[in-house]
Amino acid sequence: MESPNILYIMGAGRSGTTIMEILLANNPGITGVGELTHVFRDHYKKNIKCSCGKSAASCSFWEGILHTSTWNDDEIDILIQTLQKVESHATFMRLFFRFCQKTILQRYFHINKHLFNKISLISKTKTIIDSSKYAGRGLALLRLFPNYTKIIWMTRPPEQLVKSFHKKGLEQPSKTLINIIIYDFYVTFCCSLVALKHPASVYKLEYEDFIKNFEKTLSEVEKWADIDLSLTKSLLTNNSNFKVGHIITGNRLRKKKVVKFNPDTGPKDLNAPERLASLTIKFNRTIIYFFYKLLKPNY
Ligand SMILES: [Zn+2]
Repeated sequence: MESPNILYIMGAGRSGTTIMEILLANNPGITGVGELTHVFRDHYKKNIKCSCGKSAASCSFWEGILHTSTWNDDEIDILIQTLQKVESHATFMRLFFRFCQKTILQRYFHINKHLFNKISLISKTKTIIDSSKYAGRGLALLRLFPNYTKIIWMTRPPEQLVKSFHKKGLEQPSKTLINIIIYDFYVTFCCSLVALKHPASVYKLEYEDFIKNFEKTLSEVEKWADIDLSLTKSLLTNNSNFKVGHIITGNRLRKKKVVKFNPDTGPKDLNAPERLASLTIKFNRTIIYFFYKLLKPNY
């Protein structure tokens, strides 16, 4: 069986990765699966509710993908650990400099091959969108499936990122301003390294540009990834509903069966420390992009 095409969405949390997956997956031949890296944890360990309304264990889509495998319950922990060892933020540099153990990488390859092939088979689609976000996962998938992987690297304006992470009471825990700055720096740095190594396979999508002119961004993605996104364009133009599909892990949008695209146009009520944090993030990104441009002037 020929491998399906993987469209991987990478970037910091709260960068619009889940909504972007939903928008792009609403086209024939494309299936979105949320943050696939957490599927074993959220399916077997937590039995989280799928966006179709059923629990993970009783969703027919995931049942077909996960329960036809030969993995037994004892092996699930090993699968979760293998994914973490290869692609987590903490192990990114080890992966980048190819210090990962061969046996772990081989196991990692088989897990993902199984997942993507099964998803393609069950959904009868050729392109799978995975919005796991980790730069490490993007790099690993590019190396293991070089002819079938493309990465959309999403970034969101610092002010929106700070406001979103600093807000309390959301499903995901909030971060302190210092932690947001460090987190954004590290994620931007890791994503830049992936793009530096594989410039033709990485498309940088600025959330702000997308909101300003979605037609232009989608046309560029269509050309670059060789996919048809006509339905996304027409649904956005008519402000219609987007089907969420079968997402187990993703942000709170996954709790709905359909969503409309209501872009966040940016907070206007940042306090002084939040403004300072946003400026620091902007400065950090400028430095990283400066070095990037220096090394890849034509990109
Ligand atoms: Zn489902």
